[in-house]
Amino acid sequence: MTNNLLLIDNLYKTFPVKSGLGKTAEARAVDGVSLSVAPGEVVGLVGESGCGKSTLGRLALRLLAPTSGKIFFKGRDIHALGKRELRTLRRDMQIIFQDPFASLNPRMRIQEIVTEPLVVHRLAASAELRERAAALLAKVGLPSDALSRYPHEFSGGQRQRIGIARALASSPSFIVADEPVSALDVSVQAQIINLLSDLQEEMGLSFLFIAHDLNLVRHVSDRVAVMYLGKIVEISPSEEIYQNPSHPYTEALLADIPVADPTVKKKHILLKADIPSPTQIPPGCRFHTRCLYRFEPCDKIVPRTTDLGNGHFVDCHLRG
Ligand code: SF4
Repeated sequence: MTNNLLLIDNLYKTFPVKSGLGKTAEARAVDGVSLSVAPGEVVGLVGESGCGKSTLGRLALRLLAPTSGKIFFKGRDIHALGKRELRTLRRDMQIIFQDPFASLNPRMRIQEIVTEPLVVHRLAASAELRERAAALLAKVGLPSDALSRYPHEFSGGQRQRIGIARALASSPSFIVADEPVSALDVSVQAQIINLLSDLQEEMGLSFLFIAHDLNLVRHVSDRVAVMYLGKIVEISPSEEIYQNPSHPYTEALLADIPVADPTVKKKHILLKADIPSPTQIPPGCRFHTRCLYRFEPCDKIVPRTTDLGNGHFVDCHLRG
């Protein structure tokens, strides 16, 4: 545990959902996840919408309580912390939200937004706030004259820069970036990814970088975890997973990535059917209803995690 900044141990989170006729079903949003993030490491977490990755990000920050399982940050169980320790934890862990339009209070000026964490955690005197806010804006490539303006005066990319500045204000060591570019124009996405990558390197930050597109996390992640219906089905050092995807779901996600070079022939692997509901997770391998390689044991026996070496793990009977 000592070499991990964050350690998630066998985590479960269920939600009650109405299933019609007054009945309630249980959605298994996170269904037995173990994952670690080392100091200075970026772990990409990818999967389709509704696979539980945002719920996992919120659990990691203690914004949600798990149904069972434990989360350790700097070696301490975050659900066993007292009030004072929790305040320190809140400073040290931050989130960048997906939607830069909804995540900034439209009635607050940029200076107030960016310095809110400094005020809440009493990290700066009021006389220092303007200077600190200007320095934070400079870090994310915005001029200091933005401080007196309101969020609606900025584009989506600029608002996301403001959201990043706010996340950096309390000098955290760990940030959950929850689909930070998926609401932005494609032309702006690369700029924000590059900014996050530069800040990560400069400040030695650790990230859990959530995305639905494997291509987006490729150049920023040290490791990539692929999540399907509440479970991590493959995890590997970043380049290895792109060179040697070992779970059919990863292969299908990669086949969806546009290839820039027209001479490269892309293998089209279409996913069979839609993603099942987390209230009805299929038995055996949870991916078997969509898998093109499905064979005899897949709908009956849950695949074990196979160690492929060099930190590459996969849950699939083809590799077991
Ligand atoms: Fe496909 Fe079977 Fe592997 Fe599941 S265990 S991914 S169904 S081959």
